[in-house]
Amino acid sequence: MQVVSPDPANPAKAAPAEAAHIQEILDEIYEKYRNLDEGAVATYIPELSKADPKDFGICMVTVDGHVFRAGDCDKEFTIQSMCKPFAFQMALEQDGVAETLKYVGVEPSGDAFNSIELDARTGRPFNPMINAGAIVVASRIKKLPVETGVRAFVEKMSNAAGRELRIDEAVLESETLTGNRNRAIAYLMRNFATIDEHVNESLHQYFAQCSLLVTCQDVAMMAATLANIGTNPITGKRVFDFQFIKYVLTVMLTCGLYDYAGGWAYEVGLPAKSGVAGGIFGVVNRQLGISVYSPKLDAQGNSVRGILVCKELASHFGLHAFEFTNVGSSFMQWLL
Ligand code: GLN
Repeated sequence: MQVVSPDPANPAKAAPAEAAHIQEILDEIYEKYRNLDEGAVATYIPELSKADPKDFGICMVTVDGHVFRAGDCDKEFTIQSMCKPFAFQMALEQDGVAETLKYVGVEPSGDAFNSIELDARTGRPFNPMINAGAIVVASRIKKLPVETGVRAFVEKMSNAAGRELRIDEAVLESETLTGNRNRAIAYLMRNFATIDEHVNESLHQYFAQCSLLVTCQDVAMMAATLANIGTNPITGKRVFDFQFIKYVLTVMLTCGLYDYAGGWAYEVGLPAKSGVAGGIFGVVNRQLGISVYSPKLDAQGNSVRGILVCKELASHFGLHAFEFTNVGSSFMQWLL
């Protein structure tokens, strides 16, 4: 458990005094939930059942590049549904808001991540955080041949993480072999011409995105890149076009936790996204990226310890968007 200086090559640039306090709180929360053993590792994608249920990591990265860690922050796991906000960002960057929203909505469905339903009025999936919406997004950003689109996604995510990432081929194969429900969703959407005729290629793009290997620290870094209006706080590289980040964070806040999205927004009040491999991340706009990894999931497919840790962090640090300690936009203060 250690605080990593934003510039490891220059130890003189040590973390500020507050950093020790932040680290203490992180360590306390880690110890509190370390032995909690509730929930179940996902098995419906057979490869995921191989995860070690004891794994547990918490990582926070500030927009000025401080990294706070506790537990297993370097263990690789697949990003799963945490790819969805980033893929949505890529679609918005590629096609713009109006064109993207012709094919996918931004309404919370309040239903499970794998629900088979489309908006009866428009034929679109409700939002890009459930599988149907994410498959639409994947169909938009895929390229032919398929390797090209997957490579573009991996490259973007590598830039967000600040290191070179790769696909877990075993998970990709496992998802492809068993993903009949996603295939059914895709063909239903093909029936309504919501996605183009390259259904298998779109599914491949989606499955590959879900199979990206990341660590808890990678995900916190990606979250911090969103918080830092698109620039990776350590490498200084511009990764995301800032004009679309507010849309991505909004669908994360309203839809990121599926049928727990309302309870989450109420209790934690942060844009967030979970994945069935046990990852969850949250974004504190302009301040912080948070990530937790713990493979045991609750009934809604969210990491049990992940949810509890995020609740604790939000209450310890006053991170809820509408917390009374949150003073709001400095722009408005300037006007008053
Ligand atoms: N690959 C998984 C699926 O499509 C992702 C689901 C998730 O992480 N919630 O079923």
